Amino acid sequence: MPKTSEPKGTTEFAALSDALETYRPPCHADDRYTADDLTPSTLAELQAGCDLCHIRTLCAAYARAARPKIGVWAGKHYRPTTHRTKGNTHD
Ligand code: SF4
Repeated sequence: MPKTSEPKGTTEFAALSDALETYRPPCHADDRYTADDLTPSTLAELQAGCDLCHIRTLCAAYARAARPKIGVWAGKHYRPTTHRTKGNTHD
């Protein structure tokens, strides 16, 4: 029987979603975390929020698995790769 494949990060997303049932992280309702263009100072501010987040480990696991196209996840800035410069996919 062929194996069905789940989208990348499905398991990690489930764990993150469970944690979000009882915890509001610093990124809650802050659209800047999913913006595609951030100033360096805003990025630093968002990363400081991630540093305080109680579910950062779960968030990082999801981001590593799912490789989001944009946004700040567990302190890493993910951006589209179409305009990538050498060695500059993440901050
Ligand atoms: S670590 Fe993840 S869940 Fe926590 S504030 Fe940062 S982006 Fe949000």
